[in-house]
Amino acid sequence: MSKVRERLRANLGRVRERIASACAAAGRSPESVRLIAVTKYAQWPWVEALIELGVKDLGESRPQQLERRAPLAAGRVTWHLIGHLQRNKVRKVLPIADWIHSVDSVRLLDRIELIAAELHVRPRVLLEVNVSGEASKDGLSPHELLEQADRWRATRHADLCGLMTMAPVVASSSQARPYFDRLVELRDRLRQLWDDPDALPELSMGMSNDFDAAIAAGATCIRIGSALFEGLEEVNGGQ
Ligand SMILES: *Cc1c(COP(=O)(O)O)cnc(C)c1O
Repeated sequence: MSKVRERLRANLGRVRERIASACAAAGRSPESVRLIAVTKYAQWPWVEALIELGVKDLGESRPQQLERRAPLAAGRVTWHLIGHLQRNKVRKVLPIADWIHSVDSVRLLDRIELIAAELHVRPRVLLEVNVSGEASKDGLSPHELLEQADRWRATRHADLCGLMTMAPVVASSSQARPYFDRLVELRDRLRQLWDDPDALPELSMGMSNDFDAAIAAGATCIRIGSALFEGLEEVNGGQ
């Protein structure tokens, strides 16, 4: 087995163990958490090896890289766009991305609706919320999210299935927990406003440093990059 594959197998094993213990502590089934491997900094052969190890969901943050890579994994994985999407890229992204985690305006959602109808596709979309209020982060403010509640609910061509957030960089996983709890509260508030207890089942939250806390708070999708690919640069020469 190549060194790259060996290292990836060990990293993936550790991530799966962390998922299992966070789920056990929260009384959840590990199958209730979707592991999305974030491949934005990974070389393609590493991604290939990860697919061979059984990973089925891949996330890219840039539409251009998604476009380049999607044909290489055609039919083998579910692609998630997790980074900022400009309206003029929607037409290229919709045929490839099964999920879009980063809808952050009414204008973008309108565009997705229009093109999805035209192409006869039904992407899963999530609204990205800037829970921490940091200026460096994309996403709707909690106020904008609630103010536009009727507009989100009127989504027809896309499957508006949840909310996404990124916690600030903090010293420990437990310090990220309040941001995840806040996303759950906002989801519950929309459920109340819509009088629909089953709305927005997906919560995309948790990255390498904080996914344990996100799972405890109720994450259904975690987006993991560095914990899967750490140490790969070092072993790459010896593959
Ligand atoms: C890069 C990225 C991740 C993965 O971050 P890691 O800390 O490497 O796990 C998750 N979500 C988004 C939106 C990202 O851009």
